[in-house]
Amino acid sequence: MIDLKSMDLTELTDFFTQQGHPKFRAEQVFVWMQRGVTSFDEMSNLSKGFREELKKTASLTYAECYRKQVSKRDGTVKFLWRFPDGNAVESVFMEYKHGNTVCISTQVGCRMGCRFCASTIGGKIRDLTAGEMLEQVLRAQIHTGKKVSNIVLMGTGEPFDNYDNVRKFLQLVNHPKGMGIGMRHISISTCGLCDGIRRLADENLQVTLSISLHAPDNETRDQLMPVNQKYPVEELIRTCKAYYEKTSRRISFEYTMIRGVSDTQDAAKKLAGLLKGFPCHVNLIPLHRVDGRHLEPSTPQDIARFMKILEQSGLTVTVRRSLGEDIDAACGQLKSKTEQALTERGDIS
Ligand code: SAH
Repeated sequence: MIDLKSMDLTELTDFFTQQGHPKFRAEQVFVWMQRGVTSFDEMSNLSKGFREELKKTASLTYAECYRKQVSKRDGTVKFLWRFPDGNAVESVFMEYKHGNTVCISTQVGCRMGCRFCASTIGGKIRDLTAGEMLEQVLRAQIHTGKKVSNIVLMGTGEPFDNYDNVRKFLQLVNHPKGMGIGMRHISISTCGLCDGIRRLADENLQVTLSISLHAPDNETRDQLMPVNQKYPVEELIRTCKAYYEKTSRRISFEYTMIRGVSDTQDAAKKLAGLLKGFPCHVNLIPLHRVDGRHLEPSTPQDIARFMKILEQSGLTVTVRRSLGEDIDAACGQLKSKTEQALTERGDIS
């Protein structure tokens, strides 16, 4: 079966014309898919014969809403989507003043192994397709009945470990005949895969790039993030500077505040030195508690002290508002599940 939802308009056009159908069929099907129809029968402007033919050769990727949880604190919604192969991933829908945002997953599980993150427990199971990423945005919009205007690729998975599918997804969701979400309204977060950062720089897209930095020196970062052994801090920062030079897009550095590990005055000074003079943004994230991880969040006083040191050296700093913490929907709390796990937990009878 051909996965039509992961195809862009050019690929769809090739696919249909090769089968002897007129070109305009591609656009018709593309538009239906981006409206979120789940069967060919709903594509009412296609002839019955054509629909029957499609059913035999092609499939429409579909994310079934397996569970929906709403935060009592801030109205944030967490979805667990199940795909036909039994794998399940989470997305989060958040309402901000600047528009509704969906945080999507890019892989089932993650193999980056960051010590503070829940998404990586159990490793990576598989990459998500472009269609499966698009589905998370579409379904979130349909289930909430609210228009999505921003997307962040900050759920489970490492986007640059699944570069091609992520790139295809950006193209699909940005297409004016589809959801039409502007590149400037999309943020991609990476744990620091420099090859991916260089590739993205070459594409010169208007997306926002976030780097999960979390520590200002190799000694601390090595302990927290295994990826640092491959791409140490100096190389990461050098690559970020090259990215900025090429794209003129300011990078956002994510920095988790972990008590006694990353929140010391010494760490703040090192971080200030590392980023001095670089036009960027630092986003401090209070550590969210994750079962099985024995790290403690910083106190508000320590965060304030840390922030002051950065600001005094001229950096732009914000503290991330943690949304959906009561439903485990905050940064680093998202998980993937397999059919087996769902069954063991009694989620499926
Ligand atoms: N793999 C990508 C995308 C995930 S984004 C990346 O690493 O950037 C999720 C963000 O939440 C990352 O910045 C991640 O480092 C951060 N995070 C992970 N666990 C966390 C936790 N327990 N508390 C706060 N932030 C966390």
